[in-house]
Amino acid sequence: MTLAVRAVFWVIAYLGAVLAPLVFAAIGAGQPDHSFWTNFSVALGFTGLAMMGLEFALVARFRPLAAPFGQDALLQFHRQIGYAGLAFILIHFGISAHWDEVTPAKAVAAPALVWFGMAALLALIVLIVSSVWRGPLRLSYEAWHIIHTVLAVVLVVGSLLHIFFVNEYVSSLWKQILWGLMSAAFVGLLVWVRLLKPQRARARPWRLERVVPELGDTTTLVLKPPPGAGFRFEPGQFGWFAIGRSPFSITQHPFSFSSSAEREEVELAVKALGDFTSTVSELEPGTTVYVDGPHGVFSIDQDEGPGFGLLAGGVGIAGLISMLRTMADREDMRPVLLFYANRGWDGVAFREEIERLKENLSLSVVHVLEEPPRSWTGETGYLRADVLERHLPPGYRRFQFFICGPDPMMDAAEAALAELGVPPERVHTERFDMV
Ligand SMILES: Cc1cc2nc3c(=O)[nH]c(=O)nc-3n(C[C@H](O)[C@H](O)[C@H](O)COP(=O)(O)OP(=O)(O)OC[C@H]3O[C@@H](n4cnc5c(N)ncnc54)[C@H](O)[C@@H]3O)c2cc1C
Repeated sequence: MTLAVRAVFWVIAYLGAVLAPLVFAAIGAGQPDHSFWTNFSVALGFTGLAMMGLEFALVARFRPLAAPFGQDALLQFHRQIGYAGLAFILIHFGISAHWDEVTPAKAVAAPALVWFGMAALLALIVLIVSSVWRGPLRLSYEAWHIIHTVLAVVLVVGSLLHIFFVNEYVSSLWKQILWGLMSAAFVGLLVWVRLLKPQRARARPWRLERVVPELGDTTTLVLKPPPGAGFRFEPGQFGWFAIGRSPFSITQHPFSFSSSAEREEVELAVKALGDFTSTVSELEPGTTVYVDGPHGVFSIDQDEGPGFGLLAGGVGIAGLISMLRTMADREDMRPVLLFYANRGWDGVAFREEIERLKENLSLSVVHVLEEPPRSWTGETGYLRADVLERHLPPGYRRFQFFICGPDPMMDAAEAALAELGVPPERVHTERFDMV
């Protein structure tokens, strides 16, 4: 099946799953005393719940689902659906609440359906506020991730219990079956992501072989898969890693594979940016590592072209150097142009190896420095359209372009390529900033 057909299949499956509870609940609901607005409100509640349940599926690292869209697009969709779901559920609450009974005394005596509904609504509001304002709230990624996971479970379980106690919409047997299926799908997804996948990873521990310091506060971790694992990845893909931690730990870190896809040892290039990444240079060889991967569609193997433009900012080089190393091992002589943006020359990770790779590849490299040394004669500032235009060869519009780096650099590079007439379907991105 082509990726386009798979994409259409998933879109239809998504719409079916979101709308199914609504259709089931509507057929035969026939409560004579229900106004149009009551039914409308119930419809919004059911659809909102289905959307929230499916939010788990979007971030469950389910490879067949991620393949046609890419993890970036799925995450973007996950965010937008979060806002849409909030709107649906707020309107449902606004219409359904018995406002004349909203007093502290009556709230305490409210039935279970109200308590579960309120718990779900509050969980959703806190979940969205803590995600949108994680920075100003000074929440570390780890703390945010735990809060996000716990609140998401409260939201869906609270909603399912709310429907159960409302009773009207799960009164007949077949509606109970539907409600049971929705609940089972949700619990099943949780068990799969939090128990079965980590359990599988635990049976296949990797080993940290070497820790190699690089320029630019970057460290290469050389990893060895378990014997007979037959681990393969495509250059540009990434994995989720629990390094020196249990595979059941809630927070795992995504890193691109930086080594050649043609070698047995697997390498990561990790930049010291936060709590965990600042400690990787002190890791001891022999440390156990659990890996969930490979993931991602950001790869020269997914989007073949007559040549490639690679645009890296800082540690965004990790997946792109994997592409170069792989091409060198495969003796692939298609033209490659690497634009590599960094603050200063002393922080350019892998700069010597990239020079050496030129000997085995048809590779041109353009370094772009924000704060160049005095003697610098190369490109300076940011990756702008005029910088790209000066170096791109004729026929570049048929190349495949891969961009990876900090968000502002990626936005600028995408805009520059659009300005230069590169069709959007030939521009591929991998964003490291998830939240
Ligand atoms: C697909 C992908 C590939 C990546 N590849 C690389 C790579 O090859 N090399 C590299 O150095 N970095 C890579 N990153 C970024 C790397 O995952 C984060 O820098 C790292 O997890 C930060 O952890 P920390 O505890 O040190 O930082 P923190 O201080 O906790 O967080 C710093 C920032 O990193 C992000 N982050 C933190 N933890 C996670 C997490 N578990 N999952 C997702 N994002 C997180 C958050 O946006 C956060 O604001 C990649 C990210 C993604 C999404």
